[in-house]
Formats: sequence, C-alpha cells, structure tokens
Amino acid sequence: MFDVLIIGCGVVGAALAYELSKHELSVCVLEKENDVAVGTTKANSAILHSGYDPKPGTLMARLNVESVPLTKEICRKLDVPCKNIGSLTVAFSEDDMETVKRLYERGVKNGVPGLEIIGQEELRRKEPHISPEALGALWAPSAAIISPWELCLAMAQTAVRNGTELYLDSEVTEIKKKGESFIVKTSSGVYEARNIVNCAGVFSDKVHAMIAEPCFKILPHSGEYFLLDKCEGDKANTVIFQCPGEDTKGILVSPTVHGNLIVGPDNAAVKAGDLSVDAKRLQGIKETARKSVPDIGFGENIRNFAGIRAVTDIDDFIIGETEVQGFYDVAGIKSPGLSAAAAIGVYVKNMLEASGVPMRRKKSFVDERHVTRFNELTAEEKREAVEKNPLYGRVICRCETVTEGEIVDCIHAPIPPCSIDGVKRRVGAGMGRCQGGFCSPRVLEILARELGRDPMEIEKDKKGTYILTGRTKGEQA
Ligand SMILES: Cc1cc2nc3c(=O)[nH]c(=O)nc-3n(C[C@H](O)[C@H](O)[C@H](O)COP(=O)(O)OP(=O)(O)OC[C@H]3O[C@@H](n4cnc5c(N)ncnc54)[C@H](O)[C@@H]3O)c2cc1C
Repeated sequence: MFDVLIIGCGVVGAALAYELSKHELSVCVLEKENDVAVGTTKANSAILHSGYDPKPGTLMARLNVESVPLTKEICRKLDVPCKNIGSLTVAFSEDDMETVKRLYERGVKNGVPGLEIIGQEELRRKEPHISPEALGALWAPSAAIISPWELCLAMAQTAVRNGTELYLDSEVTEIKKKGESFIVKTSSGVYEARNIVNCAGVFSDKVHAMIAEPCFKILPHSGEYFLLDKCEGDKANTVIFQCPGEDTKGILVSPTVHGNLIVGPDNAAVKAGDLSVDAKRLQGIKETARKSVPDIGFGENIRNFAGIRAVTDIDDFIIGETEVQGFYDVAGIKSPGLSAAAAIGVYVKNMLEASGVPMRRKKSFVDERHVTRFNELTAEEKREAVEKNPLYGRVICRCETVTEGEIVDCIHAPIPPCSIDGVKRRVGAGMGRCQGGFCSPRVLEILARELGRDPMEIEKDKKGTYILTGRTKGEQA
C-alpha cells in the first residue's frame, strides 16, 4: 500500500516524486515505457522560459515564474546542464513592437525579474547574426537553456535514491476504488495506493477517464525541429524568439546546452504518439527562422524530430483533486511545463498535505548527484580519471568524446538505461554529427556486457526496437 502513486515519469511526475521523497512517505511511480523522460519531456525546445508569456493570474504564469529559480537550484545540486543565457523576443515591425510592449507589461505583472525593451543597436550587440530587419526586442535575462531529459532523470534518480519505488514497463490500464484506497492494474502487476496523481502527459485524459467523469480532452499538437551541428552553435548567443501567435511561441533559434543550434517548433494537430516529421512543415520552419537569423546553415542539420504538446480546451494547466477523493490530475501540462515542473512538484505536494497526507521531513534526504563528463575535465583531471579507471581512457563516441567509463557509470547508477538511446540521453553518446553511426554497436556491446544480457535483446529505444536480427558469423542463434 503506497501513500502516493504517481502515473507517468516525465519531468512533471519526476518533479513530484523528487519533492515527495523529501518526506516520510511511501511513494511509487509507474511508467509505461522502458525508461523515464521518453514522452514530451524528451522532445521540446529545452528552454527555461522566464514567464512573460502566460496570462497573468493563471497557474501557468505563477508556476512558471516561481519555478525558474527553483529549477536552476535543482540543476546546481543535481549536476544537470543549464546555461543562463537569457531570451530575446524580437520585433520585425511596428505591430511587433506593440506586442513586445504588451509582453513586457504582462511579464512585469507575472513578476518576471529584469525585463527590458532594447533597441536595434543593443540587439545587434547581443546577437551579431540577427536580421537587419529586426527593430528591437524584449530582453528576459532570467531565461535559460537546459537538458530536459537530464533534469527529469536527475530528479527521478534522486527520488529513487531516497526511497521512491519506480516501476518501468508498467502501463496503467485500470483504476478501481476499494474503500479508502485505489487498486491500479498495470502491464507489470497490481498496485494499491491511498492517493493517485495522474501525470500521464498526452495520455492524462485517458488515465483520468479510468476513474473519473471525463472533463477535459487532450488535443495533441506536434512541433517539429531542426537540430544543427555544433559548427552552427554560435549563430545565436541567447534564445531568439519571434513574437508569439495565438497557439505557439513562434519559431525560435537557440543554442542548446550541448553546443548545437536548435530551430523550431511549428504547430499542427496530430494523433497522440505521431512523432513523424514532414518535409513541407520543415521547409516552413526554415523560411520562418531565416526571418530572425538569415545565415543559418541548414546544410549542417544532423537531426529532425517532433515533440507532442498536451493541448486542452482549457487555457491553463489542469491541476487539482477530482470528484474522486484521493485522485489528482496534473494534466494539460503544455509549454511552459518544463520550466514550471519544479514548482508544480511543490504545488502538488502542498495540495496533498492540505488534503491530509502527512508530510514529515526526512532527516536522511540526500539532495546531490554528480556526473563525470570526461570532455569537460581539465587535462590534469583527465589524467587522474584515467589513472583511477582506465575505462575513461577509451573513447566510445568520437563526436562527443564520451568514454567507456562514463557509459559504465550510467549503467550502474540508479535507473539504469536498457537501450542505446537510454545511454545517449544519460551521457550523450550518439548525440554528435554522426548520430551514433560509429558508436552504437560499441554501446550495444557495453550494455549487453554490463547488464549480463544477450546483445540480440538490446533495443535502440522503446520496446521492440531491436537492432540485431541474427548472427552472420560464428554460432548461429
Ligand atoms: C514542441 C514542444 C516544445 C516545448 N518547448 C518547451 C520549452 O522550451 N520550455 C518549456 O517549459 N516547455 C516546453 N514544452 C512543454 C514541455 O515539454 C512539457 O510541458 C513537459 O515535458 C510535460 O511533461 P509531462 O511529464 O507532463 O509529460 P511527459 O513527458 O509526456 O510524461 C508523461 C509520461 O506518462 C507516461 N504515461 C502515459 N500514460 C501512461 C499510463 N497509462 N501508465 C503509465 N505511464 C503512462 C508516458 O509514457 C510519459 O513518460 C514543449 C512541448 C512541446 C511539445
């Protein structure tokens, strides 16, 4: 019997698990996939928004602004890549300048620190590659770029290290009330809990409907991206937004924490789970992005991908207890959900406490994490690392200089990866120019060796994405 059962381990479920693990509670997280951070948390713009965009008075505005300093503190404590580079929302016309002024006023109402409207000269000083057509911009110094999946993983690992039970490959299929508690059926077994928090992202309406009257519907909308090689990474120093439209924050051009350039997203209704990309839509993104930065070298594109927004007909996050006592929704967490996740965790913890879940602080809570990133070490530190563990001397991913030592470390950390992309999300092997063409077979071998599994069983990413189909030499399977 768990005090709290969380459905879904994206950044929101992980933030809540992290917050709850600071208290003397029994908590479990059920995730339908074979890893954490594989839903919307895996594929987004990776921006810690400053919070000038959401409507004042909404939960979105409040939690976004509260969350920015909280998230930066979590990144510092849990060793998650985050760079404070600020954002610019650029105006290309007098109408845009009016929008910029409105956004400034909105931001001030939302409590966003340090906002400033800057002119052409200052804009060009900050962004030498900006279009000559740009007239001015809203400067938001508190915005940052972050590694979204590493934030999710770090919070989930810390929760697990502090006693939270995480069950992967556990899709919730049925929820029933039994007296004061809930019986939750999943693909991996049956669980019982006093409280349930639905953090199921684009599937949160389906999970809600398993136990409560349907009262919202997720309308999945995808956003497509270009990810350009590091040689294009310096085309932007800050996050460059265009003025937002009704449903999107416009096409952005931004460096990533890993040094690449990200360009996107657009916005179109799709079926839940449809992560395909479309040449026509990508062409549209290219043309729109060039309005901000005309000399983006799209020839250096190394990856296109799409992420799915949990859009609803309610223009705010849906967070609260349902008519079924003890069953809570944290749903419709569209952008700025990554930015707001840390504050959502605290908000939901407070809500549970107000409903009578006792929150006694744990004395033994461990709130730290350290990751060795070989390519960030000094020459002296590298030498010492290789002396202590020769596996740091074997480079597996040549594009990103990721060593065997780092891969083995991540396989033996809490929440080990079971797939090649799981390793990629943890240490960056396969994230470079060749996109894993060279290192994937070597990562597969290391995974099989360290997990004691047959190489034939190792998957590329989700369940069923096998790479090897049979032996060509030696013993036949
Ligand atoms: C194109 C795009 C760009 C964005 N850019 C930004 C940005 O720059 N900044 C920002 O702040 N926000 C951004 N967002 C929003 C942000 O990515 C999301 O708000 C956030 O990732 C949502 O996290 P989540 O945990 O709610 O959802 P998810 O990450 O989708 O997690 C939900 C989890 O629930 C699991 N699940 C579902 N059903 C079940 C079930 N039945 N049983 C068990 N598990 C289940 C899923 O497998 C999944 O892992 C963007 C979103 C998109 C799509």
